[in-house]
Order: sequence, then C-alpha cells, then structure tokens
Amino acid sequence: MENQYDVIVIGSGPGGYVSAIRAAQLGYKTAIVEKYSTLGGTCTNVGCIPAKALLDSSEHYHQAKDQFKTHGINLGDIHLDFSQFILRKSDVVKQNTAGLVYLMKKNKIDVHQGVGSFMDATHLKVTGDNKETILTGQYFVIATGSKPSSIPGVTIDKQRIITSTEGLSLPARPASMVIIGGGVIGVEMASVYARIGTEVTIIEYTDSLIPTMDKELGKALFKTLSKLNIKILLSSKVQAASNTGASATVNFLDPDGKEQAITADYCLVAVGRRAYTDGLNLQAIGITPEKNGKIAVNKQLQTIVPNIYAIGDVIDGPMLAHKAEDEGTFVAEIIHGLKPHIKYDLIPSVVYTWPEVAAAGATEEQLKAQGVVYKVGRFPYMASARARASMDTDGFVKVLVSPQYGEVLGVHIIGPRAADVIAQTVVGMEYEITAADMARLCYAHPTYSEALKDAFLIATGQGAINI
Ligand code: FAD
Ligand code: NAD
Repeated sequence: MENQYDVIVIGSGPGGYVSAIRAAQLGYKTAIVEKYSTLGGTCTNVGCIPAKALLDSSEHYHQAKDQFKTHGINLGDIHLDFSQFILRKSDVVKQNTAGLVYLMKKNKIDVHQGVGSFMDATHLKVTGDNKETILTGQYFVIATGSKPSSIPGVTIDKQRIITSTEGLSLPARPASMVIIGGGVIGVEMASVYARIGTEVTIIEYTDSLIPTMDKELGKALFKTLSKLNIKILLSSKVQAASNTGASATVNFLDPDGKEQAITADYCLVAVGRRAYTDGLNLQAIGITPEKNGKIAVNKQLQTIVPNIYAIGDVIDGPMLAHKAEDEGTFVAEIIHGLKPHIKYDLIPSVVYTWPEVAAAGATEEQLKAQGVVYKVGRFPYMASARARASMDTDGFVKVLVSPQYGEVLGVHIIGPRAADVIAQTVVGMEYEITAADMARLCYAHPTYSEALKDAFLIATGQGAINI
C-alpha cells in the first residue's frame, strides 16, 4: 500500500542513508525522510566531505606556495582564486548528494522530503513545502543527527559569529579569524584558513589541543600548527563574543585569569555539537531526550518504544560518520533478527590536519587511570625513508601494548596519511593479533605504514629494523 512501509528512517545523514540501504538490501519496503532538499545530512553537506575538500585544496595551495621550490618546482607568482576554491568544494558536495539520490533509486527506497514528526508509534507526519503526507511504519529509525552548540555569552549570528557550516562557504578569504575551541573542528578549520594566509587564533579552554585524544598527539599537533603561524591560546576561557559590524570581538580569560580580547573578521565557534530532535514530536511516543539532548537506547539501539530505534549523533557515543554508518547497518540487521556487533572501543578517530592524526583503542591517560600496565613502542617519521622522500617527517607512531600477552591496547599516530595507516591496526585489534604478530606481517617498503612495524618491534623489545 502507498505510504505504508516496513522501515521508515528519519534523517538522511551517514547513519540514515546507510540504515535505509541495508534495510532495503534485506528485503524491507523502506522510506527515508529528510527535511532538507538534498540527501546526506551534516556529513555530506556541511561536514566531513566539504571540510575535506577545502582541506585538500588549501594543502595544495600551501604546498605550491611554500614547499614546491624545495622540490625544484618554480611556479612564479601563485595566487588563490577564493571563489573557485569554494565552488570546487560545492561541486564535490553535489557529486556526493547526487550519488545518494542514485543509491536510493537503485535500492527502491522512497524519499519523502519534509520534517518528520511522530503522531504515534506507527504513524509519522511529513511536512514538506505545501505538502503534508502521513506515513505508516512497522519500524522506525531516528537518525536526526546534531547541530552546532555554543557557550554562554556567545550567540551565533551566522554573520560574524559563525559555525563550521558558514566557515565552509565564506564569501571571501578572511584576513583574520578567531576560533573558539581547539577540538577537531577547530584545528581542521584553522588549518584550512591558515594555509591560505588568514591570520588564525585558536582559543582552547583545556591545556591541550584535541583534548579527548592521547595527550602526546595534542602536543605534537600544537607544534605542527604553530609552524603554520596559527596562534594557539591554551587554558583560556572564552566569556563572550560580539558582532562589531565588520568584525567580531572575543573576550576571554587568559591562563592567569586576566581579561583579554581579540578582534578578527570572524569568530568561528567550535565548542561541540548537540543532538538534534526538534520537530520530531517525541512526546507523542513517550520519549523524553536526556539532559544532553540525546535519545536513550539499549544495547540493541532500541528506544523505550520497542519498534523505534535511534542511531548516530542523536544517541550517545562519538559524533563520527563511520560510527553512525555502523549503527545504521547494525539496526537494520537487528530488525532482521541477525546478530551484528559493534566494538565501540575500536572506532578510529581521525583529524584531517597535515600531518593527519589518527587513533584507535585506549590512550595512555586512560590506561594510567585504569591502572593497566603497558609498554610503549614509539617510532618517529623522522626515521622513515618514505617520510623523508616526501618531506613529511613530522610526527610518530605510538603503540601501547600489554607486556603479559602482547595485546595491542591502543595505537596513536600523527603523521602523513595517518587516517589510512590506522586501518590496519583496527583489523589487528579487532581480531586480537598480538604486537609480535603485527610486527611479523610484511609491510611494503617504502611506505608510511612501515612505521607501524617498527613501533610494534620496539614494543616487543626487539628494536626497529627499517629506515
Ligand atoms: P546527520 O549527518 O547530522 O544527519 C541528520 C539528518 O537528519 C540531517 O540531514 C537533518 O536535516 C535530518 N533531520 C533532522 N531532523 C529531521 C526531521 N524531524 N525530519 C526529517 N529530517 C530530519 N565525522 C567523521 O567521521 N569524519 C569527518 O571527517 C567528519 N568531519 C566533520 C566536519 C564537520 C565540519 C562537521 C560539522 C562534522 C564532521 N563529522 C565528521 C561528524 C559527522 O558529520 C557526523 O558524525 C555525522 O554526520 C552524523 O551522522 P548522522 O546520520 O547521525 O546525522
Ligand atoms: P570537540 O568536542 O571536538 O571540541 C570542542 C572544544 O572546545 C574542546 O576542546 C573544548 O575544550 C573547547 N571548549 C569548550 N568550551 C570552551 C570555551 N568556553 N572556551 C574555549 N574552548 C572551549 O567539538 P567540535 O570540534 O565542535 O566537533 C564536534 C563534533 O564533530 C565532534 O564530536 C567530532 O567528533 C565531530 N567532527 C569530527 C571530525 C573528524 O572526524 N575528522 C571533524 C569535525 C568534526
């Protein structure tokens, strides 16, 4: 029957679209509901994909301007065409959203554009432009994601006090930018703009950049970002930001508690994101979001309403696209009676600065807090032939290993292509391959991943053998 479905997914981000595709693959009549006119959610439209497009373009520009001469490449006067810089990013987004339209058609998933709000546990009203549709569903998957959050005293006006969303589509290259928050968005956006010549200041509340990751990574990242002339103010608490017309002023307390102020073209707020449930009318199904706005679920990602599941940024856990995707697959397979699993402590974290930062498993700080005994194997990229060839010698691989059984407890990398290098360690940790066996595998030479082999060799007590 029309508008009657086995599975209805609300939200078309990486959690939602993957869940819908997996449900359709398993034979369910599936619909996806999206309030915006394009599919793909935060990740595809204003997150992972456009951020990586600008990170790549800005790195090319920076390389051409500051590194090519050393390679013997002289290009003369180099300038940035900022409109083309933004246009290419938008084209990349369009290719990806078009790809999702194709995938929905291919998998015979009906797309309903509009805001989905529950009427009861089996009916969803979809309010689109001049159109209201009522869908009936046996199962629902809430995948409504997250929105940027702010701090007291800082009101985002999207003009001078902006978030990453506006930061990905600015009208012209800013001369200066203050970024509140030295977390993942803060350091990625700082990299984009510093590389193209914007004077960037990061104000971070804690004593480290990317404070949730292993402390050594934050310290190393501080050094590499400082080389890009990014000014980094740690242990500094932002108290207020104001739009002063052509600029923004940020007031903060420095580490000594003294009041300070910085004025820049823009203030970009990157202090975290909050789960988004506005418009869902959750009260109609008896769900009250938790204090932090998230929807509570059990181990099967089921809400208190048995036929309604929730995944991705709107529930607990790291706000990452691949975490949302895995949960999307998980829920569709649970509905089908399969027994999927997600190992949450092995979800890799990646920061797309250059060099990249990537990690899986426990940090040294976590192991110390838990009283776990561990050995460290650390190998610097300075000692890697591959890294020297590409002039990417900043960074290291650090592996944390249990001395008793050789279990790999954590891997922390800052270095070239760390985002890709981490994948091999996730396989190893998932299948509980020991550090000694990780070192026995054959790694192609010369590669960035060889640094892993040496770090594992060092952790097992043998010592490095590669250059
Ligand atoms: P979302 O992607 O937020 O999608 C939710 C969708 O639901 C949205 O399209 C929204 O319009 C829709 N929706 C909400 N309410 C309703 C409703 N009532 N009816 C209909 N539709 C509704 N993660 C990574 O893993 N790697 C990265 O490199 C990375 N980079 C990022 C860069 C930036 C700048 C940002 C902001 C985020 C980045 N993230 C990254 C995080 C990643 O984007 C999120 O973790 C991911 O998008 C979460 O997916 P989701 O499906 O849970 O929700
Ligand atoms: P975040 O939690 O990573 O960082 C927020 C930072 O703001 C923290 O370091 C925090 O200490 C700081 N802060 C908070 N209050 C402050 C104050 N008053 N003054 C100064 N600093 C303050 O959040 P984010 O960077 O906004 O990113 C949001 C989410 O998006 C993250 O969960 C992240 O996982 C996801 N994301 C992921 C990627 C990626 O995977 N590469 C990229 C971008 C975003």
